[in-house]
Amino acid sequence: GELGPEQHGLIISHFGRQVDVEALAGEQQGQIIRCHMRTHLGQLVTGDRVIWRPSPDGGVVVATEARHSQLQRPNNHGELKPVAANIDQIVITFAPEPRAHANLIDRYLVASELSEIEPVLLLNKIDLLNDENRAWLEPMLEIYQQIGYRILEASTSSTEGLIELKAALQDRISVFVGQSGVGKSSLINALLPGVDLRVGALSEQSGKGRHTTTTARLFHFPEGGDLIDSPGIREFALWHIPAEDVLQGFREFQPLLGHCRFRDCRHEQEPGCAFLQALENGEISEQRFNSYRQILNSLNMAP
Ligand code: GDP
Ligand code: ZN
Repeated sequence: GELGPEQHGLIISHFGRQVDVEALAGEQQGQIIRCHMRTHLGQLVTGDRVIWRPSPDGGVVVATEARHSQLQRPNNHGELKPVAANIDQIVITFAPEPRAHANLIDRYLVASELSEIEPVLLLNKIDLLNDENRAWLEPMLEIYQQIGYRILEASTSSTEGLIELKAALQDRISVFVGQSGVGKSSLINALLPGVDLRVGALSEQSGKGRHTTTTARLFHFPEGGDLIDSPGIREFALWHIPAEDVLQGFREFQPLLGHCRFRDCRHEQEPGCAFLQALENGEISEQRFNSYRQILNSLNMAP
């Protein structure tokens, strides 16, 4: 059939050979149109900006715009595939309970740095703060503050901090990541009233009938900013990280690179190691260096 004029769109969900495109301008602005894709376009994912044309049964995506970032995940054959595009910010969520572990936060930070997406730390459930958990949380937060990471605090129970959180989500696309039980669903439900996230994982109409998918989906926060969410994305730091890249994921270690006596220094016990020297001087924290070693070991032990 006849195709209408070219227009800008934003992919809010993708299912195999079809995508849901939000019209960003024109008569259909704000509407969601189920589109087919021209085959030469490669894999389009949630968050991609596209050019599409209306067709009698929906639309056709005819071109895509360059991505400024992407989250990639290995498929069953070990090939890295994009799962979401144009994410600006990764909100690494943790809480006093279940007890936050610096090692896991660092793993998310490494994954964020390697994706070149800005991380923000979010301490949730601050209604649960007491003398006992402050005693281990505060020194941990201080380390992240010194490195220069932004830290937000919130409670979905008391609603404290939600105004600041909403402000931090403005004008950008965010994802929430973090351990199960820290309150990601509760936060997202508080920020997106009326959206059922289980419905958010929309179903696919295909030859095999309708079935649910865990594809990523983009949501607009009513007070500004966007969210991309899926069960997989919430755990993205546990995806593959190449061992040789881990060091790059530690922001404050970068000035030390190239300063060890030996070019092939492993920063274990070599003489003249700039890392061990910086540890001794207190220029880098033991907690972070231990995380680096633990993450590296876990990758080396992986099959
Ligand atoms: P998710 O696994 O990260 O999505 O976490 P959920 O949103 O499912 O929350 C896990 C549990 O923590 C639930 O029992 C929530 O009611 C509770 N929870 C979430 N936010 C808060 C909070 O700010 N304070 C307290 N005390 N509990 C919370
Ligand atoms: Zn070294």
